[in-house]
Amino acid sequence: MAFSPKVKEEALVAAGRHCCVCRRFAGIKLECHHIEPESQGGDDTFENCIALCFDCHADVQHYNASHPKGNRYRPSELRAHRDRWYGRIAETTPAIFDGERRAVDRQIFATFREKLPESIAREILQDQCWGQTFQRSTYDFLCKIEELVNRIDSQYLDPTCEGFRSDFRSAFLKFLDGESFRRISAVPDREYLLRLPKEWDMHSDPLVRAQFKQCMEDLNSLSRAAYEAYVNLIREIRKLLIVP
Ligand SMILES: [Zn+2]
Repeated sequence: MAFSPKVKEEALVAAGRHCCVCRRFAGIKLECHHIEPESQGGDDTFENCIALCFDCHADVQHYNASHPKGNRYRPSELRAHRDRWYGRIAETTPAIFDGERRAVDRQIFATFREKLPESIAREILQDQCWGQTFQRSTYDFLCKIEELVNRIDSQYLDPTCEGFRSDFRSAFLKFLDGESFRRISAVPDREYLLRLPKEWDMHSDPLVRAQFKQCMEDLNSLSRAAYEAYVNLIREIRKLLIVP
């Protein structure tokens, strides 16, 4: 069986069309997932339904019990994510978004812009070519941003603002926690410099050189996607919170 259109609609409205796990605003790119699988007797009720973005849906479904990697989402956890998010949507519609809450969100936004100013975001995420050697201080800065985006108190009260923040967080982590970034290491004898293995680029084997190019292009495109999400966040949250 499947969820009825009515149950789906109720779930999408309750979630404000955000993913209940990562909280990104997903618009039409949402799927209604059975928390208790149908194969295990899960029914087609609102109570058993959770709206998930394509990425989170894949994470929840593709977990392979015979090759456990990472932590599986349990039904109880999915329910907890969902109910917390439903609560957030229910209590903060724009119409009742009062001055006090807005002041909290403005403070969160100000802190974010102070820690990651637009000029630095452009320099690091947009203009940097990751095929080149770079300073360890750049890496340390990226780690600080990672810490910031993972902090609970960097989450907005307003669900729409929170959706833009989650978009940026997800794009940024795809870059920094991705396979390609893990290839980067310190330059021997010059620990303050980092780079992709230089020997790949100089290698006589064209396959190894291709691997270097592939990694560089991957990193460049992921960091630019994170920059786009950053620009979008700044532009949209400025409008939502009415700040200069
Ligand atoms: Zn998601």
